[in-house]
Amino acid sequence: MLCAGTIWMWVRSYWFDDQVQRSTVGTVTTGEGKFNFDRLLWIGSSRGKVAVMTVDTKWPLTRSDDVPVSQWWWSEDNTSLKSVERRYSNWRRFLGFGFGSSKVTMAVAGTANPPMVPAGTVSSSSRCVVFPWGVVAGVFMIAPAWWAYLAAKERSRTARAIRGLCMHCGYDLRGAGGVCPECGQRGG
Ligand SMILES: [Zn+2]
Repeated sequence: MLCAGTIWMWVRSYWFDDQVQRSTVGTVTTGEGKFNFDRLLWIGSSRGKVAVMTVDTKWPLTRSDDVPVSQWWWSEDNTSLKSVERRYSNWRRFLGFGFGSSKVTMAVAGTANPPMVPAGTVSSSSRCVVFPWGVVAGVFMIAPAWWAYLAAKERSRTARAIRGLCMHCGYDLRGAGGVCPECGQRGG
C-alpha cells in the first residue's frame, strides 16, 4: 500500500507540484519571558523529489493563546524546489539529497502605537531536507522483500525439521542423538 502510494506520488510529482503544510501557533514561556510562536512543517513534492522543511519563529508576546492551534493545508501550486533551496545560504547537495539550515535572531525595539509590539527578540530557525522519491520507494520495497526473505527462511527451517534434518545446516540427524555431528548445533 505504502509502496504503491509512494510510486504514485513519484510519478505524479512530474506533472503536479503538491504541497502539504501544518502550521501551529501558540504561546510559550521561556526563561526570557512569554513568546508567541509559529511552527511550520512544510512538505513539497516536485519533479521526482520531496522536500521537508520546518520553520520555527518566536516573537515577544503580542497576544495570548491558551491552547496551541494547528492547521493543515494542501495545495497544488507550482513550487520549484530550487526556490526552496535558495532560502538557505549553506545548501549542500549529496547524491540527489539536499540539506540546509538557517537561524536568524534580531532585536525589536517595540512599538507603542497599535499594533503594539513589545521590545524583545524575534528568532526564526529553519531546516530543510530534499530527497528523491525513488529513495522513499526503495525503503518501502526493502521492508516487504525482507519480510518475504524471513518467511522463506522460516519455511525451509520447518521443512528440515519435518524431514529430520539439522535446522542449521541440513545434515541428516537420524540417529545423531539430537546434536548435529556436522555443525555441532543442537537439532530439534
Ligand atoms: Zn548441522
